[in-house]
Amino acid sequence: MVYTYLAKLSPRQKIWLIVSVAAVLLISALGILREPGRPDEAGNQFTISMSIQEIAAKLDVTGKGLARELALSLETPKKKPLSELGISQEQLDHAVEHVLSHRSTGLKYYLFAAIVLFGLVYLTRFGRPDNANISERKLWYPRIPYIICLLATVLVCGFVLGKSPNPMEGTVKVFKSMVGLYPSVIEKLLALIFFVVLAVIGNKLICGWACPFGALQELIYSLPILRKMKQWKTPFWLTNTIRGGLFCVVLLFLFGIVGGRKGFVIYHYLNPFNLFNLDFDHWLILVTVVVSLTLAFLTYRPFCHLICPFGFVSWIAERISLTRVKIDHEKCTDCGLCIKACPTQAAKGRVLDKLFAADCFSCARCLNVCPQDAIRYGSVFSKTSCDKSQKQPASEKGSASNNQ
Ligand code: SF4
Ligand code: SF4
Repeated sequence: MVYTYLAKLSPRQKIWLIVSVAAVLLISALGILREPGRPDEAGNQFTISMSIQEIAAKLDVTGKGLARELALSLETPKKKPLSELGISQEQLDHAVEHVLSHRSTGLKYYLFAAIVLFGLVYLTRFGRPDNANISERKLWYPRIPYIICLLATVLVCGFVLGKSPNPMEGTVKVFKSMVGLYPSVIEKLLALIFFVVLAVIGNKLICGWACPFGALQELIYSLPILRKMKQWKTPFWLTNTIRGGLFCVVLLFLFGIVGGRKGFVIYHYLNPFNLFNLDFDHWLILVTVVVSLTLAFLTYRPFCHLICPFGFVSWIAERISLTRVKIDHEKCTDCGLCIKACPTQAAKGRVLDKLFAADCFSCARCLNVCPQDAIRYGSVFSKTSCDKSQKQPASEKGSASNNQ
């Protein structure tokens, strides 16, 4: 099937395919070359005879950040030896280990960008052969390139390079830096902007193609089992209310408006990216991972829809995405095939032209099912008949399709 698809690509598309693979390799190689060697980060260079101030400076966190890791108040004196604050060497080692596990590798930013770029070119340039016949649409957008990207991101951006950075952490760290847990708000803001830009360039492509935990859920959901149960889709209004509500609650606790303990981060206990470091320092983290991955057999990306703060942020960013699934309302007969193929309520939102449709993860499932050829993945600036002003009444559309 893949050979048939490749054979049908036009020479121009084959060039796009080769260039995009070459670009991925080049960007990845650049990332590897620019990755600085890691200094010796042995936690045992720190002892409880040292102060918070001395240790924090070497770990590139603020005194408040280290105090929080040690379960102390953010206002704890930072110049006193830790032994005088009642901290044991074991507690210090554990806190240092946790801080070091959050160290970002710059290489992952390159890999995220490379995977998103490949996904974008696949969706817009060579996923569907030029001049393709609609009757051969099942050949379009083969799953193999997508599955390879998902596997690569789980293995390399997940298990090999560890949990940091990732889009969820990128979102939370901005707010943590605002309460003084990290030295530079600007630096954390830039990291979040990087992820949001990737989500805007291609509709949520960073989530759909490059996020390691998102990819793991996607792979599990793609397994051809329990198909009947997967037909039930959780109502988006419900999942989005839970996800957005949780985000607000987290911020209220983080800023100390509720609970009176500034710097308390609920997401710390719900962070499934710890899986990639095999570091479950609280039982709730393990529960989050197990429940998310188990539910992923039945429902699409449960963690993304119910918990992830970047899932919420990127859902808002979707409103200004530059490329996305587009419905040609002139051709659409409201047959519902794309809605059925979509694992979320996103396609339904696109067909009904809803401003706040459900998250679309650019998974391409809807792009090869339309018998009217009314679905494309493309630039929001390209002129199509998707504009509401050009919509035909449903009765006319029906008769038009019957005449075809
Ligand atoms: S919404 Fe899902 S895919 Fe996106 S950052 Fe969160 S976990 Fe990853
Ligand atoms: S099937 Fe749904 S989530 Fe996937 S690309 Fe289409 S609209 Fe988006």
